[in-house]
Amino acid sequence: MRPFVYAVAASRVVFGRGSLKAQLEGEVAQLGAKRVLVITTPHQRDIGEEVSSLLGARFTALYSNATMHTPVEVTEDALKVVSEKNIDCLVAVGGGSTIGLAKALAYRTDLLQIVVPSTYAGSEATSILGQTEKGAKTTLVSPKVLPEVIVYDVDLTLTLPKVMSLTSGVNAIAHSIETLYSAKSNPFIDLLAVEGIQVMMRSLAKLGSEPDDIEARSDALYAAWACGMCLGNGGGTALHHKICHTIGGMLNTPHAETHAIVLPHALQYNYAYLNKDSRRNLGRAFGLAVNEEGGRDQLEREGVEMAQKIFDIVQNGGAPTSLAALGVKSSDLEPVAEAAAKAPYPNPAPLEGPRLLELLHRAHLGSRPV
Ligand code: NAD
Repeated sequence: MRPFVYAVAASRVVFGRGSLKAQLEGEVAQLGAKRVLVITTPHQRDIGEEVSSLLGARFTALYSNATMHTPVEVTEDALKVVSEKNIDCLVAVGGGSTIGLAKALAYRTDLLQIVVPSTYAGSEATSILGQTEKGAKTTLVSPKVLPEVIVYDVDLTLTLPKVMSLTSGVNAIAHSIETLYSAKSNPFIDLLAVEGIQVMMRSLAKLGSEPDDIEARSDALYAAWACGMCLGNGGGTALHHKICHTIGGMLNTPHAETHAIVLPHALQYNYAYLNKDSRRNLGRAFGLAVNEEGGRDQLEREGVEMAQKIFDIVQNGGAPTSLAALGVKSSDLEPVAEAAAKAPYPNPAPLEGPRLLELLHRAHLGSRPV
């Protein structure tokens, strides 16, 4: 057994269909909060209004300007509401952007947070805050940003469009994949990572043809939690996350789509450099036989097969597979590669300029890994 450190930071989790209506107010009361700020994006303001009405006298204000990549200007604007209205608790209802704003506010104020995720990004389960300022996305880790309570209610995800469901689910899978080759992970979190990938892959395959399947949606939400716990507790950020943060920060591409496009190519880049434990776990996660004694050709084949499984889920469900479809130009690729290599995250494969650029070109073209 390899040496490891186990130290899990976890929120209270309330999981179940109908839990938002049945349990949110009780959860707020249990925290002793009296003045709640509900947070959403402009797109989800309606759901914010519904949630506000569940809070009775504790509802104080609704802030519905949460924005992708958590720009610091938006946080500063919301901070004014927090202070003017004497807020003592945040209830964030939405995807990673909404939860990101709650975390950014909690980082600055240490306010209590209850979050109700409506995508599979997994941010709710981590102590990580990503913020954008002047076109650069930076991340920090602080116990202050981990929400006190997460309420998972599948009903909130029923409106998530099919393409966003698939890309967001692949975003979750990325957390678990990079956990499985992180030196900061441990055998317990690795188990959760394998479980998260297996359940999410199965759910996404179903949602690609039946996006209204409640059981598959409920399983995807559970897998999102598992994958988020891996990101939060196993250090699951390597080259893939670095590239996505760089592209998102520099070019303001949508987060989930960027992950879904880059992940197959980033996994292929790294696979042949993984140790046996990581390959065994990935093989179990993707239901593929791994030959632990295989030579270089065998390793490359295994990496391609796993990358193809992810690519096919994205393509078969009609989600974009190329960075070009997100408006990225081929002239953007070199600056992205340079920026990604400048302050690299720990990564199994060495960061070699020409290989990195080749990875980006493949993701730009959207070609199936071969
Ligand atoms: P998002 O929150 O930006 O949502 C995208 C759009 O979909 C928004 O307009 C939103 O209102 C809408 N939406 C969300 N749920 C919906 C639903 N159920 N029905 C209809 N519309 C819905 O997307 P995301 O991918 O969840 O989050 C991306 C952000 O999360 C990025 O800023 C990323 O950096 C951050 N993130 C952070 C972490 C972390 O640990 N810090 C982890 C993952 C993602």
